[in-house]
This record gives sequence, C-alpha cells and structure tokens, in this order.
Amino acid sequence: MSKYVGAHVSAAGGVFNAPLNAMAIGARAFALFTKNQRQWVAKDLDTATIDLFKENLEKSGIAPRHVLPHDSYLINLGHPEEEKRSKSLEAFVDEVHRCELLGLEKLNFHPGSHLKKIDESLCLDRIAEAMNITLNQTQGVSLVLENTAGQGSNLGWKFEHLAHIIDKIEDKSRVGVCIDTCHMFTAGYDIRTKEAYDISMAEFGNIVGFEYLQGMHLNDSKPDLGSHVDRHESIGKGKIGLEAFRYIMNDERMDDIPLILETIDETIWAQEIRLLYSLQEMI
Ligand SMILES: [Zn+2]
Ligand SMILES: [Zn+2]
Repeated sequence: MSKYVGAHVSAAGGVFNAPLNAMAIGARAFALFTKNQRQWVAKDLDTATIDLFKENLEKSGIAPRHVLPHDSYLINLGHPEEEKRSKSLEAFVDEVHRCELLGLEKLNFHPGSHLKKIDESLCLDRIAEAMNITLNQTQGVSLVLENTAGQGSNLGWKFEHLAHIIDKIEDKSRVGVCIDTCHMFTAGYDIRTKEAYDISMAEFGNIVGFEYLQGMHLNDSKPDLGSHVDRHESIGKGKIGLEAFRYIMNDERMDDIPLILETIDETIWAQEIRLLYSLQEMI
C-alpha cells in the first residue's frame, strides 16, 4: 500500500502517547503538537520522554517520514512588528529542535499573517527570511508550509504565496508544502469533480510543484468554495463531499506522504481511515 492515512492525535500526558493513540485508530501516519499549541514556552523534552517516544513510534510501525508535527498557533513568522516576529522566530526554532530530538523529519506550520500592517509581498519575504534563519540553526528537519483558507490576513491561501516563499529559501531540500483540502477549497480551489480536481491540482503542480508536497490534511469543509472561512467537517459530510477524497486516494502524487485527518469528530477517525482506504481502487 502506498497511502499513509492517519489523524492529528492527542499528545496529552506526553508526546510518547501520540504513536499509541495513532495505533489505536489504525493509523499509518499521524500529526501531533510536540508542546502545548496555545502557549509560548514549554519545558524541554527530557531523555526519558524522547526515548519512550522513539520506542512507541517503533512499536506503531509508523516511519518518521509519515509523522507530521504541527507548530504552535501563536507563531507568526511574518509578523509586522520586529519584537513579536523575534518571539515567533525563537519559538519556531525551538519547535524544530523538538522535532530533531524526537527523530522527526518535518515541521508543518502556517506561513503567517500581515495583520493589515504590511503588504503581502513584504510579509512573504519576512516569512522566507525567518525560515532561512531557522534552517541555518537546525538540522535534518524540513519546514513544511501549509496552505491556508485565507481567513483574516493569513497568507498562504494562494499557491503563488507558497511559491513566492519557496523561491526565497536557500536550502530547497528542506522546504515542503502540506495541502489542507478544506483550506484549499475555501481558498477557492475546487476539487469536487474530477475535472475541477485535475485543474486545481495541475495549478498546484505548475505554480508550486509536486516535488514539494510532503503531506496533506484531509478535511471536508463546512463553509463553501471560496468563502475564506476555516471550519473543518468530517469526510463526506461537508461541502467538498466524498468524491474528492477518492481522487486523492487514487492519485499517485500523494503516495508515501502523511495524509492527516483533522476532522471534527475524533470518535469516528478509525472509521474515516477505513473509509478512505476503501476508496482505493484495486488495479
Ligand atoms: Zn494547520
Ligand atoms: Zn483548517
């Protein structure tokens, strides 16, 4: 099997619980927060925690490349104010260090917001600059930009935003992209029919490039196409509908990367994972 489906599982009680939580729902990939996502500082990962995480990860049979940690929601690498940008940068470097310690290879994050104080292009430049600084201070972890819904002043909803940032990254071997299907759809990229899916994905391929695709968030959407509102829905129960997920599950461009559910009802994640695998057409 070439598809690695999982969910953003809880790390409550310690990061070492995340692989076990993934196993319990039959996941072959997972996402996690390596610290409380709503706080700036966290205590350092101690050796016992790191060892137990690695032990449980091995037990789960999930490869490090199929784990997609997500950074804190507080971080804004494009923050227009210097002091706040520095605080974000410092927290971001710490997040990458935590991934390094856990033996993980990717960190997924939202590019940033201009807060209506600077223009888009300057904000994107600041994000790329912060990523370059981070890459120079760390090793072995790729920075994975997530496309956004474009809610408020969040950048990264247009594929051009992602391409703009990638273009300015010095070490392109350590930059990637994660496509969130809900964000893509509410940003205005339709994927509901095969025709629409092919057009939107071709656009991604032309503007960003599939060589940068290092993960996906599989979410249906409560709001409509182009609404720029970020609200996830369970697979097949939202405005996107089930067919789009069939196209993804049968698209070899999504092979061997973490495909992560962030849907709203975690009690049905095991069911959703089975549903997604059932969409794969056997050849
Ligand atoms: Zn995200
Ligand atoms: Zn979202």
